[in-house]
Amino acid sequence: MPFVSPLSAPALATARPQDAPPGATTRARPAVVLALIAAGGLAAISLWWYGTPAIHGLGDWLTNAGRVTGLLAGYGVVVLVALMARLPPLERGIGADRLARWHAMGGRYTVGLIVAHALLIIWGYAVSAHTTVVSQTKTLLVSYPDVLAATAGGLLLAGVGISSARAARRRLRYETWYYLHFYTYLAVALAFSHQFASGAEFISSLPARIAWGGMYAAVAAAIGWYRFVTPARQAVRHRLRVAAVEPEAPGVVSVVIAGRHLDELRAESGHFFRWRFLTRGLWWVSSPYSLSAAPRPDRLRITVKALGDHSSALAGLRPGTPVLAEGPYGALTGAARRRRKVLLIAGGVGITPLRALFETLPADPGDITLIYRASDDRDVVFRRELEQLARQRRSRLWFATGRRAELGADPLAPAVLLANVPGLARHDVYLCGPPGMTAAVIRSLRTAGVPRRQIHRESFAF
Ligand SMILES: Cc1cc2nc3c(=O)[nH]c(=O)nc-3n(C[C@H](O)[C@H](O)[C@H](O)COP(=O)(O)OP(=O)(O)OC[C@H]3O[C@@H](n4cnc5c(N)ncnc54)[C@H](O)[C@@H]3O)c2cc1C
Repeated sequence: MPFVSPLSAPALATARPQDAPPGATTRARPAVVLALIAAGGLAAISLWWYGTPAIHGLGDWLTNAGRVTGLLAGYGVVVLVALMARLPPLERGIGADRLARWHAMGGRYTVGLIVAHALLIIWGYAVSAHTTVVSQTKTLLVSYPDVLAATAGGLLLAGVGISSARAARRRLRYETWYYLHFYTYLAVALAFSHQFASGAEFISSLPARIAWGGMYAAVAAAIGWYRFVTPARQAVRHRLRVAAVEPEAPGVVSVVIAGRHLDELRAESGHFFRWRFLTRGLWWVSSPYSLSAAPRPDRLRITVKALGDHSSALAGLRPGTPVLAEGPYGALTGAARRRRKVLLIAGGVGITPLRALFETLPADPGDITLIYRASDDRDVVFRRELEQLARQRRSRLWFATGRRAELGADPLAPAVLLANVPGLARHDVYLCGPPGMTAAVIRSLRTAGVPRRQIHRESFAF
């Protein structure tokens, strides 16, 4: 039986924001967050500026450059960890994939700042002490408080950074990379105390120590709360269990998860959760899967294409298996919408969040169009559900199937989109599919005149 809720399904999606726990529906704006991050960086530098009367000679200049890069590195690691702390306003306003990209880029800069900090301090001290870099390094490691621990922390962070390089990630299992990343917390802990023990800005200023320590404590508390306490509380409150596993297409299954008080999760169409199935071989991995139907007070549905170990194992799940779900996360929801007309473009298993949005986005007849791109008719998932929803909501539905070579022309080329979607530039476009396809479609949309702010995408690879 297709999982199409009666037309009343949107009732769940219209839950009142004022009932939400604090921050649950707040959406941070990307530009505001970036401005805050930059302001924090300037505030960090101002600690050095106000703590440094005058600079004389090469040794002093090098040392001060080392202090500034050290401050920025110490601030940088806090920002990196905060971006991945699962803060709801960030997850809902910016989205996990963009946060992951910011985190990766920030990680590269921060590791660079740490290396620069170490080299500049060693060189600066050596020049001022008229000694060699080697002997100065020894002195710093053995006689400056906590520098040895900080060096270990710095090396650990560099190691985590190297393991995250694209070339290394390709060779590592996702889970190995994921657990290696936990060393970041150890590295931050190891490096923390040397900031207060050796940092000129902090030795002389209690307010600076309170502000800096407060910043670290706030992010540590957020991590504890959103990555550990909240999922544990949700597990107790909602008691999620596998209710059914249903085949959808070759290599694709839907998993229906039942639970209690699910409306309290404030999940919306377009959201994903990180799922942990408490059964042998799966309990130690949590993987992200989007909701593939409107969330209901008693059940949620995901639909998964077998790709590797985790996604393939879901077909074998037994009803009654306990489930932990972290979330909801993601910015690909109705909240991103700015226009009355909406175009949904799905590729392959990227149909899942768009199938849910096709069901619940408020719209008049003809306002919503769904284009579903698949290499083969047999790979189309939810065909009956989509056709039923299109009939019920009088929305437009178009299956673009076939290999590019067989089709001759690109069914998502600018001219084709313009011809088939009247008023294309006045649409919000929601996009989810393989990276190559989404990049090509974004180019098509931009060429066809769709403003960048009206293009919303979710990437399944990050
Ligand atoms: C926001 C989001 C929503 C998603 N929604 C769906 C969905 O609705 N249906 C669906 O079929 N797939 C979805 N995926 C993709 C799905 O998470 C991966 O295919 C799955 O985790 C692969 O794990 P594996 O062990 O089967 O394969 P592996 O062989 O371990 O991995 C295959 C690929 O998936 C990536 N991957 C593996 N585990 C994770 C993880 N925990 N987090 C992020 N990437 C991972 C790996 O980097 C690799 O590129 C989504 C991914 C994201 C990021």
